[in-house]
Amino acid sequence: MQEIKAFLRFPQEHFSKPITYRLVKEYNLMINILRAEVAANKAGELIMDIEGSEQDIAEAIDFTAHEGIEFRILKSGITLDEERCVHCGACTSVCPSGALTLRRDDWSLVFAPEKCFACELCVKSCPVRAIVAVMHLNGTVLAG
Ligand code: SF4
Ligand code: SF4
Repeated sequence: MQEIKAFLRFPQEHFSKPITYRLVKEYNLMINILRAEVAANKAGELIMDIEGSEQDIAEAIDFTAHEGIEFRILKSGITLDEERCVHCGACTSVCPSGALTLRRDDWSLVFAPEKCFACELCVKSCPVRAIVAVMHLNGTVLAG
């Protein structure tokens, strides 16, 4: 079994199609939706944890490509270079999970990795590049 975190962007015409249902039913995937931005007659975005066999996940990715859905495997997290961080708070305003916040008493940045779902929105927001996306490979953390 394999576990991945994925970002899916649906074109507008997929609004009424049961794509996640088909991923579960036809590709035997276990899905946990972490974030959903969907609205009638608009493109939609989902971030989800997906668990399944390597083959089922590969076939599901082929299926989404065939349907014109963007499917991106997200890296497993971020690292924060505390020496580089200037505590400007820019990353906290884009973080959808609450993993990055400013401490009220001294306005210093606090990172709660257990809340992070690796959307990487904070990486580009940091003016001093204190945040780096990382992935794990056989127990080794690799910079993204
Ligand atoms: S990757 Fe960054 S913006 Fe996304 S949830 Fe994690 S800390 Fe927040
Ligand atoms: S955007 Fe960068 S410098 Fe600003 S608080 Fe976040 S990590 Fe620190």
